[in-house]
Amino acid sequence: MSSTAIANIGELVTWADDEPVRRDAGLVIEDGRVAWVGSSRDLPASDDVVDAAGGAVIPGLVDSHTHLVFAGDRADEFVARMAGRRYTAGGIRTTVAATRAAGIDALRGLAAARMAELRAQGTTTVEIKSGYGLDVETEKQLLIVAGEITSETTFLGAHVVPDGMSADSYVELVTGDMLTACAPLATWIDVFCETGAFDVDQARTVLLAGRAAGLRPRMHANQLGPGPGVQLGCELGVAAVDHCTYLSDADVSALSDTGVVAGLLPGVEFSTRHPYPDARRLLDAGVRVAIATDCNPGTSFTSSMPFCIALAVREMGMTPTEALFAATQGGAWSLQREDVGHLRPGAKADLLILDAPSHVHLAYRPGVPLVRRVIDHPLLRSCESV
Ligand SMILES: [Zn+2]
Repeated sequence: MSSTAIANIGELVTWADDEPVRRDAGLVIEDGRVAWVGSSRDLPASDDVVDAAGGAVIPGLVDSHTHLVFAGDRADEFVARMAGRRYTAGGIRTTVAATRAAGIDALRGLAAARMAELRAQGTTTVEIKSGYGLDVETEKQLLIVAGEITSETTFLGAHVVPDGMSADSYVELVTGDMLTACAPLATWIDVFCETGAFDVDQARTVLLAGRAAGLRPRMHANQLGPGPGVQLGCELGVAAVDHCTYLSDADVSALSDTGVVAGLLPGVEFSTRHPYPDARRLLDAGVRVAIATDCNPGTSFTSSMPFCIALAVREMGMTPTEALFAATQGGAWSLQREDVGHLRPGAKADLLILDAPSHVHLAYRPGVPLVRRVIDHPLLRSCESV
């Protein structure tokens, strides 16, 4: 078994209970796992040594919500929105038309290029949804491409109702033939529960059908206004309800009581000029919070978790440490993963060496590329060469 030591770590973020952030540290990797963490002067001898040169070492970032596989561009819509037009869920159909026309090889190339962007900015675990096909064949293609990148694949046939179908007949398709074709390619089932997308009864039908087909449920809800989505998610015990921009006190209590993760996606509010979710309110109530990019061409075309961390600190009332925690451990909770999002012994050795002495710089120096080196497992590394 070969071992690699990382020496001269200026600041090491492990999220260990006793010392979550430590100075002057070392770390040893054996067999792709964190085998030892401790003080720099106690670093055991290893086969290889990587010199962190005083930089901070943090867990690889966990992006628990993306729509990476799509074709087309909606820059015009962004320009119109910045000129004052309001966002509605209907813009998704523009991307559906481009995605259906693209073909799987083109989609594969586009997704790989985006994955290289994520990785360069420190994301080592990523969730990828379908949802720009809205027909059986294209939804399958999207999940095939997603599955070549990550095991965290999500069937989001219920993204919006496609043109030319009623909502009820489309829900029948999503929970029937489409689910049968897509369930073997997915880990998760998701639904967009929002005015203009799917109502609470339709969302319940989709999530229960997905669960019966062996998929684990997660949701998009409470993005554009208050609604029943969070309560449904808590009732069903979904892993995460993402967006959570408009929450009642009862919603916050339900999230806190059930442990359902609130996934906050500040790139969306940035790109739509909507009010940001109140992360402070959630954290103070004991809710488990994740931050993710929601990388998609309509409402958040960023692949940068550090950008979202900076937004969370500047706009959502989080401290830099809380924001990094939400972007690592919070993402791992959202994906129900115990092996990523932290660097305690036994964790997967997915980690970043920063060109900065502290994780605080991720928010303090917004927009600056601070990820000097990504050390992670081979699945994502293979995307680099594409
Ligand atoms: Zn989304």
